[in-house]
Amino acid sequence: MAPEKSEQGKKVVYMDNNATTRVDPEVLAAMLPYYSELYGNPSSMHTFGGQVGREVAAARARIAELIGARPEELIFTSCGTESDSTAILAALQANPEKRHIVTTRVEHPAVKNLCEHLDRLTGHKHRVTQLPVDREGMLDLAQYEAALSEDTAVVSVMWANNETGVIFPVEEMARMAKERGILFHTDAVQAVGKIPINLADSVIDFLSLSGHKLHAPKGIGVLYVRKGAPFAPLIIGGHQEQGRRGGTENVAGIIGLGKACELAAARMAEENGRVRQLRDKLERGLLEKIPNSMLNGHPEQRLPNTTNVSFEYVEGEAILLHLDQFGICASSGSACTSGSLEPSHVLRAMGVPFTAAHGSVRLSLSVYNTEEEVDLVLARLPEVIAKLREMSPFWKASHRGEVGGANCPCACS
Ligand code: PLP
Repeated sequence: MAPEKSEQGKKVVYMDNNATTRVDPEVLAAMLPYYSELYGNPSSMHTFGGQVGREVAAARARIAELIGARPEELIFTSCGTESDSTAILAALQANPEKRHIVTTRVEHPAVKNLCEHLDRLTGHKHRVTQLPVDREGMLDLAQYEAALSEDTAVVSVMWANNETGVIFPVEEMARMAKERGILFHTDAVQAVGKIPINLADSVIDFLSLSGHKLHAPKGIGVLYVRKGAPFAPLIIGGHQEQGRRGGTENVAGIIGLGKACELAAARMAEENGRVRQLRDKLERGLLEKIPNSMLNGHPEQRLPNTTNVSFEYVEGEAILLHLDQFGICASSGSACTSGSLEPSHVLRAMGVPFTAAHGSVRLSLSVYNTEEEVDLVLARLPEVIAKLREMSPFWKASHRGEVGGANCPCACS
């Protein structure tokens, strides 16, 4: 496979797979006929459309198999965000007399902003509990249990965090919700394809996934709705998806996702073996080579491909721009370009100190990454941090013991 190239023709070292992934060449090859000769509508009565309908059904079965679901429990959507909204709104509609949502402080905006929006929209009639996390990004199950009440309509807790990779015990949490008759949704957008998921053994009611996180294209998502769980469509229109989501299906996207799920199942061992080893080598090397660095997130309860490391007294965005010059793609929990100097809500919820949260970098790998690429990042990133620290008034002040004091460069005292 040809290596990715940047605009300048430089080889790209892509370690931003939690943002999006490369469409696998086998996935693309499976999709292409559905843009050319196989353009029929799967709902058509004629044979030409019917053959497409059969391939959509086969793809549905492949996707269901990866997560231990029945094919009829899957609804195709446009993305993870649509799946999240559909699930939470369906659960609320099923329980109109209940007004309480339980979620966490570290959800992706697809869930977090929806819950906050509902709270505002209904004049705070929808009470939202956002569970806190500890310094390692983990939830306290006793606190969770205490938050569940007679008024709780739905719990929405992510399977794995997109910034830190921390994995939550959603199956156990779903059981606790079920005992109290509460519907349970999980945003598994980052988990599907990276760790084993078997919904047949769980009582989870709704699960969201998104194609572009597992080497399928952007624009295709799935909502799993457990057989028997109450449901109301978000998009009302034609009879597609058994009346559960109107709109002509994204056929090529569905075929691509089917192939991607087949590949993910076959590569699960590699993801949890070779990719995890690469991630661990990268993480260990960075923490050893760079002083004043720290891991964000639980060391074990984590996706195999993700590491989030903070480098004190430097700015995450500056790190990314320097890495970009070497063709290295990563992301940061700091968002100065958005006009706010606030670090990510995830790192803030974890209580990561201000001086470290600003200098956080997320590196997320995939089966395409090589040891050579890890070695390149291990050579370049320490240089970048050293260079930025030379210019950082905070780094210098930290050595004089002034940060947080009367002479702190940010005038915080
Ligand atoms: N949930 C999580 C945990 C994510 O990481 C993302 C994307 O980054 C989403 C939801 C949204 O998925 P999509 O981009 O398919 O809408």
